[in-house]
Amino acid sequence: MPRTALATAIAASLLLSLPSSAVPPRLVVVLVYDQMRGDFLWRWERLLSGGFARLLQQGRVYRHCFIEHAATVTCAGHATLVTGTAPEEHGIVGNDLLPRCCQPRTVKCTEDLQGRTSAQWLLRPSLGHALRQRFPGARIAALSHKRAAALMMGNTAADYVLWADPQHGGLTAAPGAPSPAWLPEWNLQHHPRRWLGQCWQPTLPDSLAPADAVPWELPFPGGTTAFPHCLNSDSTLWEAFLLSPFSVEWLFDAAVELLRTEGLGQDSVPDLLLLSVSTTDFVGHLFGPDSREVVELYLACDRILGNFLAYLDRTVGAGNYLVVLTSDHGVAPVPEMLARSGPGAYPGLDAGRIDPAELRQFLESALQRAFGRSASREWFLLRTPFVVLDRQRIAAAGASWQAVRDSLARWLAQYPGIGIVQSPEALRASENPSPLERLLRRSLHPEHAAADLLFLPKPYWIVGTDAAATHGTPYDYDRHIPLLLFGWGITPAVRDEPVSAEDIAPTLAALLGLPLPTAQGRVLPISP
Ligand SMILES: [Zn+2]
Ligand SMILES: [Zn+2]
Repeated sequence: MPRTALATAIAASLLLSLPSSAVPPRLVVVLVYDQMRGDFLWRWERLLSGGFARLLQQGRVYRHCFIEHAATVTCAGHATLVTGTAPEEHGIVGNDLLPRCCQPRTVKCTEDLQGRTSAQWLLRPSLGHALRQRFPGARIAALSHKRAAALMMGNTAADYVLWADPQHGGLTAAPGAPSPAWLPEWNLQHHPRRWLGQCWQPTLPDSLAPADAVPWELPFPGGTTAFPHCLNSDSTLWEAFLLSPFSVEWLFDAAVELLRTEGLGQDSVPDLLLLSVSTTDFVGHLFGPDSREVVELYLACDRILGNFLAYLDRTVGAGNYLVVLTSDHGVAPVPEMLARSGPGAYPGLDAGRIDPAELRQFLESALQRAFGRSASREWFLLRTPFVVLDRQRIAAAGASWQAVRDSLARWLAQYPGIGIVQSPEALRASENPSPLERLLRRSLHPEHAAADLLFLPKPYWIVGTDAAATHGTPYDYDRHIPLLLFGWGITPAVRDEPVSAEDIAPTLAALLGLPLPTAQGRVLPISP
């Protein structure tokens, strides 16, 4: 049976198994913590006492949930969570797309070719569309610090798609898109100026915390790598705010205001709140996943989520709402931490960092020497894992595309830290793809990623120098995400079978009695 037919059959049997008197949840909350790796909640379980602890104890916990595509980045991950498909289907191949129509150029996943905010590149219906079709009166809202997260989740299905925009002084919607009437006043009252002069103080005793201010961390805006981190300058206020737990509290305050004024969860028609916290990604990039800052931030998130769940208990009613907690991708350990010297070190470990500017310089010079006449244009665009050649540049040099590509592939494969270089044709033709090839294939879309080559760094090598840590590869640390279901209809359990990020949307659709036949994922059982 094809996978989608199987999913539909399971959905049907699951619905039949629900009691006929079962009423759908009044509210579904999809809660995404950007860059929350699948092991985070387990490693900190002893330290948690708020919302995360409640979900771990009373929820259905999948410990082995993975993203099933190679380009593990924010746009692609959020698109997968709401559509139940991989980039090969939903079309969001990365944070930047490389559309075949218009090479050589990149387009943000959130913009059309004219640079206007748009979800046009998302090609598959989302959970929100299915909900809207079945329940025209359903209320749907997407909120995030990041435009990409809010727009990929809310897309064209949501009543409101809101994200943090310092230019607009707070949460904003796309020009011309609906925006709540209360928002301007709320933004005035919740401007980060309110937190000016305040400091993010650590709460863990030193005996339980990782070391602060290690060499590979980058400094907090207007400050240093060491706690406390203070919001003490107007010029770096927004940047610092978005790197502090104050911005998590701020986003949940906005969610509460939205629930309250728009009446989500207040009648028998199910509503959908899509909430993505980006602070966790910003802090993870700056300090690394094993930093004191990251654990301190998650402890703050634990407390804030506890308060939010208590609010839902009071206003929607415990058992009337369903929460799904997950992430858009994981994160790699900081390579300098892995390969550090000194006590407890492992200096021989094959871990490192590829400087994209140096890599580009190396490849451009080699191409220039072999084929070049004029240095006026670059030969290629590079967005991990995609390389797109500039065909006009190749033609101007009188070179052949095949020869240029073969040479580029050879030099790229020789570069320190590069693990895999493949052509898309070879990838598609492979009859027995390796697990990595399968993941790369699922990240390819013929129209949205006009790739001439695909490449990956080796495991524990990262591409980038402007952050301590990053993600974006198909290695387990980048693909492992949490999946916890809690509340309406959910039997507490800890499950160890492997599940996929693509299972989330079809599972929620089945629980709400909605068809989502385009999903590639399975419907997960909610008991035992
Ligand atoms: Zn992300
Ligand atoms: Zn990130």
